[in-house]
Amino acid sequence: MKKYIEQLLADIKYSTENVSLPFIENRLELHNWRSEEEEDKTAPVRNLEEWTGICKQQLPPSEMLNDEQVQNLHDALIKMLDAYNWSFVLQTEVPLRIQYACIRDNFNQEAKVKQEYMGFFQLCHEGTEHGKCALEKYCQCAFYADLFSGFINEDLTAEEERARELEIEITHLKRKHGDEWMKYYPYHLDAKYDDENGNPYDYGFEENDNGNWWRS
Ligand SMILES: [Zn+2]
Repeated sequence: MKKYIEQLLADIKYSTENVSLPFIENRLELHNWRSEEEEDKTAPVRNLEEWTGICKQQLPPSEMLNDEQVQNLHDALIKMLDAYNWSFVLQTEVPLRIQYACIRDNFNQEAKVKQEYMGFFQLCHEGTEHGKCALEKYCQCAFYADLFSGFINEDLTAEEERARELEIEITHLKRKHGDEWMKYYPYHLDAKYDDENGNPYDYGFEENDNGNWWRS
């Protein structure tokens, strides 16, 4: 098993360092700016196993692994998924073994090739009952359902909706970036950063005085 795990870790590392992103050529053209929703709808889809070259079947069930092996495989897979911008992100604390089981169980999934916005590894098979997926009682869908259950019949004003988005985004950033999360602060969602013309952080494209910012 030891030899096998070593080879598997090497394969995952290779895949992490050799991501093929076939549709990248348009990425910095301003007129191609897309909203997150738009990118989500139009992003090319690739099967994660084919894209990464790592198959679910190569990943041993966690019962066959010792703690160190689970830890190493978990860390390598997280890093690989980040490299593919198809990140494995949880909103709550989940034991490592269960995280690994979740990645393994869901690994044969369709991933979106996203350029501008983050993509997220799907944690449940579609149609799975809450709490019955590989995450068991840590099921994230159940967590979200809970989080939103109080709001479903509520008509939110645009401001309230924005404030809620900010809250959710911050939770997510803290989980993903740890102490570094402020670097990714979603200014566009924070009403405190609005000026009289709305929010100057919207879209992230600001022309400077001479309008030649893209040449500098
Ligand atoms: Zn679930």
